[in-house]
Amino acid sequence: MKALRFYAPEDVRLEDVPEPECGPREVKIKVRNCSTCGTDVKIFHNGHQNLSPPRTIGHEIAGEVVEVGAEVESAFGTSWTPGDRVQVIAAVPCGECHECRKGWMAVCENQTSVGYQYDGGFAEYMLVPEQVLKVDGLNRIPEGVGFDEASAAEPFACAINAQELLGIEEGDTLVVFGAGPIGCMHIRIARGVHKVGKVVLVDVNAERLQMSADAVQPDEVINGAEVDVVERVMELTGGRGADVVITATAANVTQEQAIAMAARNGRISFFGGLPKTNPTITCDSNVVHYRQLHIHGANGSAPEHNKRALEYIATGQVPVKDLITERIPLERALEAFDIVKSGKAIKVTVEP
Ligand SMILES: [Zn+2]
Ligand SMILES: [Zn+2]
Repeated sequence: MKALRFYAPEDVRLEDVPEPECGPREVKIKVRNCSTCGTDVKIFHNGHQNLSPPRTIGHEIAGEVVEVGAEVESAFGTSWTPGDRVQVIAAVPCGECHECRKGWMAVCENQTSVGYQYDGGFAEYMLVPEQVLKVDGLNRIPEGVGFDEASAAEPFACAINAQELLGIEEGDTLVVFGAGPIGCMHIRIARGVHKVGKVVLVDVNAERLQMSADAVQPDEVINGAEVDVVERVMELTGGRGADVVITATAANVTQEQAIAMAARNGRISFFGGLPKTNPTITCDSNVVHYRQLHIHGANGSAPEHNKRALEYIATGQVPVKDLITERIPLERALEAFDIVKSGKAIKVTVEP
């Protein structure tokens, strides 16, 4: 079968590899969609400390069960049948550490990831490892939800995790930095689930801003390359500032702007990580103190968030279909990374 394998930074090859054999505690799936995101681009250029090459990458996965290991049902309590439509979690918690026992599986200290320690979804077939089955990380795709939409449940789950921490209230003013797919999903969830009021979308890439604004219809857009973002948000909120700010980008300055534009009792999510070579920002601590700001991190998602994402897609509460704007066969998967990097598509999905 064909698989896209990472060997070293900038050395990712489409190869013919043997079809994997299903072990007694594994489920083998035929991958139908594996979507791409900025993380894939980062891996392509820089690799990742937890990624052991050669490794089939791809972590936003939906497919069809083709084989079930003999011990799967007795060991994990779920019965799977060939033909079942499934979505696979990407961040795999251990289920046993202090954080997992507290129910904070997104920050499991022993977290492993599909596409890092286990072969991922840019392949015709893939094995769902027992570590995923053990934490109930293989999810049935609800009726009426396509494989393409289900593959977007993983990034969607990360956004759900972040917003859950923010205590968003009905009518809150929301500013989202970053008009990529995840910024779009944030806006959809904030409106569909949390019923926010005015929504402002900020980016420095005019083309991407326009494309995403067409899809999710924010109340206001701000091109950060042309306008003083903080000043404009203050203007739009009558000088009060934004109740909720989410930075879905790796640009340091957006975190500083987020703090500067937050309203009293404002809640901020540093959703996007910063470059590891430059991970610091300047923060006026007195602004945080006197304005009583709440600044949250966000690290991936827990299995439960993936289930909830599928549910929101199924009920239509948070649509994702129209955010998938580009479909590419596995043979051209490397092109998908270029498209993601260029910002010329919202979500790119690979169809093996
Ligand atoms: Zn991703
Ligand atoms: Zn754990």
